Order: sequence, then C-alpha cells, then structure tokens
Amino acid sequence: MSYDIRSQKGIYIHIPFCISKCIYCDFCSAPADDAVKERYVEALCLEIEAAGAQAAENGDNRGISTIFFGGGTPSILPPRLFVRIMGAVRGAFTVAQDAEITVECNPGTLTDEKLETYRRMGVNRLSIGLQSPDNAELRALGRIHTYEQFEESYHAARRAGFDNINIDIMSAIPHQTVAGYEKNLKKIIELAPEHISAYSLIVEEGTPLYDMVERSGEEILPSEDEDREMYALTKKILSDAGYLRYEISNYAKTGFECRHNMSYWKRTDYLGFGVAAASLLKKSDCYPASRRFTNTFDLTDYLKNPIGNHSEEQLLTHDDEIEEYMFLGLRMMQGISKEQFYRTFGRSFDEIYGDIAKKQQEQGLIKCDEDRLWLTDIGIDISNTVMAEYIL
Ligand code: SF4
Repeated sequence: MSYDIRSQKGIYIHIPFCISKCIYCDFCSAPADDAVKERYVEALCLEIEAAGAQAAENGDNRGISTIFFGGGTPSILPPRLFVRIMGAVRGAFTVAQDAEITVECNPGTLTDEKLETYRRMGVNRLSIGLQSPDNAELRALGRIHTYEQFEESYHAARRAGFDNINIDIMSAIPHQTVAGYEKNLKKIIELAPEHISAYSLIVEEGTPLYDMVERSGEEILPSEDEDREMYALTKKILSDAGYLRYEISNYAKTGFECRHNMSYWKRTDYLGFGVAAASLLKKSDCYPASRRFTNTFDLTDYLKNPIGNHSEEQLLTHDDEIEEYMFLGLRMMQGISKEQFYRTFGRSFDEIYGDIAKKQQEQGLIKCDEDRLWLTDIGIDISNTVMAEYIL
C-alpha cells in the first residue's frame, strides 16, 4: 500500500542542554559550556542538511508543516545559534508559510533578545515549562526558577507578540495537597494561556527523586486517591475555564491544539534531529517499508558522527502500524475513525477489533458512534490497560 507522499512532515529538534538538572528528570539533557553548544549546533546543522539532501535524492517531499524545538531547554541557546539552526532547516526543507513553529522555553533563560529572534525566525508558539506556581514546590522539584521569574518570561513573551503559549503544569509533586494543586490550577488560568499541558509527576528510576522516595518513603508523595482527585480536578477546572481536553494530558482553547503533537498521535511522518531524537517515515513511493529510528543518546558520539547515527531502528510490520495507530489514536479525545482505519490499512476495524471494542463498550471503557470510538473518563483512568488489549 502506498501513502500520500505529498503530505507534509513535522520536524523535531532536540536541544539537550539545561542550566542544571531537575531532580525528577530522566530526559536526555545536561549542563554544557558554550563551546559544546556551538559544536552541537554545527553537528545538528550537518544532520539536517544531510537529511534534506537524502530526501531530495529519494524524490521525497521536503514540505514541513510543523517544527518543534524540545529538550532539554532550547531557550538556553544564544540567538545566533538558534538562527543558524533555522537557516539550516529552511535551506534543506520547504517550511510551509503557515507552519506551526514551537520553542520550549524555561523561565530564567528567556530574554527580550531571544524572544525577538524567535519572532523574526517565524516561531509562532512557545511552550513554557512552569510545573508549579508555588515556589516551595519549584524548589522541591529542583527547578532553577521562581514563579515570579516565570511571570516575567510569560509577560515578556506576550509583549513580544506571542499569542499562542502553552504552560506545563505538574501534579503529584512531593508534599503537594489537593487544595494546593487546585490553587495552582486557578492561578495559571488567570494568565489565560492558550494551551495547558497537565502531567502527573512520574518517579523515574535513576533520578535523585527516586532515591529520595526510596529513602523517605512514598508518604512524601500524594496518595493514589489524591493523585486521582487532582486528575479529576484538572479536567473540571480547565473545562470550566473554556479549555478543551483534546488529548489525555493536553487542554487548549478552541483552535490552539498543538498541531505538532497531533501529528504524532495521527502518525504523520516526522524527522527528529539531534541526540536522542526519534523519526517516523512511513512506507511510501520513496520508502519500501515504514520505519522508526532514534538517534544515539550519547552526546560525544553524536558530536563525532551526527549523520545516520541511530541507536535503534525498527522496520514496522503492518501489525505494528495498526497497533501504533490504536495506541496513539486513543490518546486523543476524538479517538479513532473506523473509516480512516480502513483507508489507512485496507482492513475493516470491526473485523480485527470488533469483539474487543464491543466488550470495552459494555465495560464503559470506550464509547462508539457510527464511525468513531474514544475513551470514556473511566477508560482514560486505566488507559494503559485498555490500550494493551489492542496488541495483535
Ligand atoms: S528543565 Fe526539563 S529537561 Fe531540563 S532538567 Fe528540568 S525537566 Fe529536565
């Protein structure tokens, strides 16, 4: 089966640098000096240019509809390095006029000069990592900034003309209470960002937070019931304030859903550049098979060899693709369309999953209409279990 090669891709660019490490973080990021940042950007540009040349050689479409700078802390880069990367992207690919271009920023690293540079380079969406408006909670997380610094960054971004801003907020922070979290949500709403990503803190093995929980016991974290209460509060308070939940953890004012992330969940092709960045290229007239690949996680290794340096590469079978389509599609509140399923895979949804969907509908885990099926609130609560049933 061939896919439409005219469809545009997304680009993800990973900036693996942070001022210091937050105690819960297991992302590929670390502090670095200016010389390393400079070398990294040069390596990144080589990788981007090589991918553009490769796409041209394969006869692939080089149209780009979304670009997302993630990290790490992309806003740690000096403006001239950011300009250098955007120049490489625009030289190697054709960025659509209306492309969504997002930069993740951390308070304490944003300046007016950077904001002005972003605007000039076509950035039209900022995602600011706040996590909590409570300074004691920020300290507990090892964040480098205070709430006041966040507010300064937020207002500076508005003054610079950004009218599409996401704020990240976290629940289940050590010693957080349900009442405290409710206060946090209300404080953020007052700022009226266009988008809010609300995640529950996960204690990852290998992080200082993990060691702390091992030492002090789980009592320092909100209980499972409190966690669930915070989760329910998020939906209630944000919905009441006019934010539409469009994905399990993401809320937006109408028209401000993150197009880049939507394309992940819809399995549009994307290219990831930089250390630890992942890519998906589906089968098409240009590629004989669908594949996912992830760049090396080793910064030194990447700096030596940034082109085609993959730590993982997986050719996707037809069944793999169907499973991914289900897992990712069910994350979105709009769920999946049976008709689109058929158009994508040439197989009837009911023939493959009809029995499972019927059972889950009876259990109240999903809802269905003529064409679509989506998770209910109960289904979202145990989404991993629900989705596991779609493994072929
Ligand atoms: S700012 Fe983000 S990427 Fe950097 S250490 Fe903190 S959580 Fe990790």
